[in-house]
Amino acid sequence: MNAESLEGTITWRELWAETSNLIGDRAHARWLCEVASGSVDGDEFLARLDEQATERMVGHLDAMTTRLRAGEPLQYVLGEWSFRRITLAVDRRVLIPRPETELVAEVALAKAAAVGPTRLVADLGTGSGAIGLSIAHELPLDSTMVWITDASTEALDVARANIAGLGPAGVNVRVAHGSWFDALPAELVFDVVVANPPYVAVGSADLEVSVGDWEPHAALFAGPDGLDDIRRIIADAPARLRPGGWLVLEIGADQGDAVANLLSSAGFVDAEIRRDLAGLDRIALGRRP
Ligand code: GLN
Repeated sequence: MNAESLEGTITWRELWAETSNLIGDRAHARWLCEVASGSVDGDEFLARLDEQATERMVGHLDAMTTRLRAGEPLQYVLGEWSFRRITLAVDRRVLIPRPETELVAEVALAKAAAVGPTRLVADLGTGSGAIGLSIAHELPLDSTMVWITDASTEALDVARANIAGLGPAGVNVRVAHGSWFDALPAELVFDVVVANPPYVAVGSADLEVSVGDWEPHAALFAGPDGLDDIRRIIADAPARLRPGGWLVLEIGADQGDAVANLLSSAGFVDAEIRRDLAGLDRIALGRRP
């Protein structure tokens, strides 16, 4: 495609067809066209199929198509991805929000919802803000406070942009920079602490090539067994949870036994390992007695 020659002469229906041919995927082509056309949703896009695209829109579509064809993940190319009930801005500064992490958020949400009348939650290593912002969005506005942290200032810039897009629940989110619990004010104790920390073993052969090529390594890798950060979080968590408070962690599929042992050794009770939709161990949780 050439942005100048197409200006004012091509409709979204034609661009969708051309993009489908170029990338070999009609659904992905449609998402690119939706974003390039500035449509707020699929219905709006379908209503605009016979409208002509502006030069700027064609240029944006052209750039996205080129990036996708170079192998960049669709979510980064689109610059946004949905997670539970919200849409998050995403780029290479943060992990792509994943379906299994939606389940981690669901477990943390359930534990936080059960606390009342008010609840204090921390999402450590928030990245795009996916887990923490979902909790703020889905729990009652007048009784929920969520701290989100990250050691990466670049990730926090993305998370802050996502807070701005969150609507009313954004006022219930506090941002703190630093490593795990060190980021948080020392006097705070939490009802629920949740994290999707890095948990991939350095040199792991299981990591998908595209993940290793494109996603931030600081958010993926955690020492020789992938447990360096999980060990640190579990060791520090009891002092930062109120009695009865829950720690909820995303873990690697082969880490269930190890993490259950770490939780027990740190004094957690009701420790549990839950599976994701693929049937793999993915969520570890435990309660401070
Ligand atoms: N689930 C990611 C992967 O293996 C890893 C995410 C993480 O380390 N938190 O692709």
